[in-house]
Amino acid sequence: QHLLGRIDRLDGELNSFVTVTYDQALAAAEAADKARAAGETAPLTGLPLALKDIFCTQDIKTTAGSRMLDNFISPYDATVVEKLKAAGTVSLGKTNMDEFAMGSSNENSHYGAVKNPWDLAAVPGGSSGGSAAAVAAGLVPAAIGTDTGGSIRQPAAFCGITGLKPTYGRVSRYGMIAYASSLDQAGPMARSAEDCALLLGAMAGHDLRDSTCVARGVPDYTEELDTPLAGLKIGLPREYFGDGLDPQVEAAVRDAIKVYESLGASVREVSLPHTHYAIPAYYVIAPAEASSNLSRFDGVRFGHRCDNPADLIDLYKRSRAEGFGDEVKRRILIGTHTLSEGFFDAYYKKAQQVRRLIRQDFLDAFEEVDVLMGPASPTPAFDLGAKKDPVSMYLQDIYTIAINLAGIPGMSVPAGFAGSRPIGLQILGSHFTEARLLNVAHQFQ
Ligand code: GLN
Repeated sequence: QHLLGRIDRLDGELNSFVTVTYDQALAAAEAADKARAAGETAPLTGLPLALKDIFCTQDIKTTAGSRMLDNFISPYDATVVEKLKAAGTVSLGKTNMDEFAMGSSNENSHYGAVKNPWDLAAVPGGSSGGSAAAVAAGLVPAAIGTDTGGSIRQPAAFCGITGLKPTYGRVSRYGMIAYASSLDQAGPMARSAEDCALLLGAMAGHDLRDSTCVARGVPDYTEELDTPLAGLKIGLPREYFGDGLDPQVEAAVRDAIKVYESLGASVREVSLPHTHYAIPAYYVIAPAEASSNLSRFDGVRFGHRCDNPADLIDLYKRSRAEGFGDEVKRRILIGTHTLSEGFFDAYYKKAQQVRRLIRQDFLDAFEEVDVLMGPASPTPAFDLGAKKDPVSMYLQDIYTIAINLAGIPGMSVPAGFAGSRPIGLQILGSHFTEARLLNVAHQFQ
């Protein structure tokens, strides 16, 4: 009730929620109270949280930030939603996001931009901007996001919270509206690494309904949080400290690394030589997969339907023209082009080859060091409306995108401020080292 009151008071300005589910939340809270009274001691029983509006929720609207799904009510819960419910959490609602998770500022939402609670003139980051802002403003202690190219880590950095993108395949994608299926992964966004550890434990695990979800046991992610860091080998990718990095961000990240040295870690420079190709490769692969995934929104099977169609083709055309926003249309066009006959080898196949090299860069680096550290974003949060040109927005993702191409886990943890705007330290590990990343993040907090 306290948090629902805060949402009422503050979210008119922030716009971090698309839907607040008052009745369901109060009913779930009451059930949690009863479970506790009956002796239930699971750590998440009664924990309020919010879900990015990309997770299907039975009987509750799921928009993916798009006009296309403005009236979509899923007949089932996503696996992540099912698991969080089973753990006893209480969802307060669905958070705002860039349309179909395409964006880095949350300005691409059909439901309007979200403001950064630290500075109302700034963006919260994207695409999980609503989740990040809701946690930062204390509207919920935790929220769930998704990350295809940085959408958990960059908004976590911009809003001064902790966010984790797990290894690809760690968390089921069933019921999570697909943007780029080979890159999408859900993860927790919260105040601390400890909270993220508890949430990841509840979200992760094998699911037969997602064939890319890995059959691998889920450890207790809180168990290693207190392991001392003496002897930890940290690598600093040379390419993550080059041109275009804001000096205040660099200073904050280097200060954080000094703290790790004082905890007994050793630091050395490493190289990820194909970093430069990550953005071009991503912006071929992700739109290609998106153009295919979004073909289901045709006004017949799914999505907005135009009024009075003259015939079937008119129905498709106008439904999609009205339902999708500009950035989504741009990516459908790019993806359709790169997948078309005659261009496939030059673009899509080449991008997949580059992706392999990017993955190998990380595997080579992890032969030498335990974790990599660097900035989560080249700048602190920028002003709302500041980036009009799509390419300048895409360049925001320079430090986050390669991680999804490689499938490895990554975190952003708060590491200081530039004025009133937070800065995030990014911590990366090899596949399935979430427990180690959470330990490293926790020792800093
Ligand atoms: N900013 C990137 C994009 O626009 C990543 C988004 C994401 O991770 N969902 O595609």
